[in-house]
Amino acid sequence: MGATIIDGKAIAAQLRAEVAKAVAGLRAAGTVPGLATVLVGDDPASHVYVRSKRKACAEAGISARDHDLEASVAQSDLLALIAELNADPAVHGILVQLPLPAHIDEQRVLDAVDPGKDADGFHPYNLGRLLSGTGTIAPATPAGIQEMLVRSGIDTQGADVVVVGRSNIVGKPLACLLMQKGAGANATVTVCHTGTVDLAAHTRRADILVAALGRAKAVTAPMVAPGATVIDVGINRTDAGLVGDVDFEAVAEVCGAITPVPGGVGPMTIAMLLSNVTNLTKIRS
Ligand code: NAP
Repeated sequence: MGATIIDGKAIAAQLRAEVAKAVAGLRAAGTVPGLATVLVGDDPASHVYVRSKRKACAEAGISARDHDLEASVAQSDLLALIAELNADPAVHGILVQLPLPAHIDEQRVLDAVDPGKDADGFHPYNLGRLLSGTGTIAPATPAGIQEMLVRSGIDTQGADVVVVGRSNIVGKPLACLLMQKGAGANATVTVCHTGTVDLAAHTRRADILVAALGRAKAVTAPMVAPGATVIDVGINRTDAGLVGDVDFEAVAEVCGAITPVPGGVGPMTIAMLLSNVTNLTKIRS
């Protein structure tokens, strides 16, 4: 294997130590950053994600308030909880774990979160700010990818970035972040999806290829340019265990640098969430 492994776990640990220091400063000045996490139902993956987010909060000195609701909760009750958290001065960040059960209008719930407490950066106000390049909060996974590129010394300036996937939580906000004018961005970004004709023709010309399709090992070696940086966002549970959207072993023979799964983008997502909560607390205090 010729590729450098980008150690997301180590970079995230660095970032989390910085966040813990900032939190200690806020605490010393009399403010305890608080994150309210709202988990609805019993989706096993969501439980795993929320548990690790709550644990990471505790380690960073952020007070985590857990709200676990039955899958059958009425939308009106969920909206009432959000209103309560919006009004609570001890809550600086609110995270609603997605997906929500089918009977709940997800967008309505995201719209209800106070944009100033929007820990995940999914509120339309913060997404609009992101688009205009004037944002303070960005969705944690794309922000984590950008931070990982910067801290790994991978230059995005003028790079051809190809993002496979256009979800509102990964693909679109990442494209938005990397196309902005400024440090850690200024890339030429292409976004691919199921409507893309000849996906490999696009991926093969990427200096930085981001796989966020949600399809196990869908990005194969012939789809990658020699020396490219490959960021694997995918988390797929298969009989063989947890795998990414990239065929890691084969692609690592071709590319220049690659993130592993697990231990790549996942830890960065959690670290950026903590960073978002800390920034929201600073803005409010
Ligand atoms: P998603 O909402 O399912 O979106 C997948 C996107 O990929 C869609 O835009 C879809 O296109 C596109 N796509 C699917 N198959 C494709 C194909 N064969 N060719 C081209 N495009 C294709 O997924 P997501 O929420 O963005 O998540 C993507 C992956 O990242 C999942 O494995 C998820 O578990 C993982 N994830 C990881 C983290 C982390 O912290 N590591 C965070 C979030 C998500 P259409 O729009 O045309 O349908």
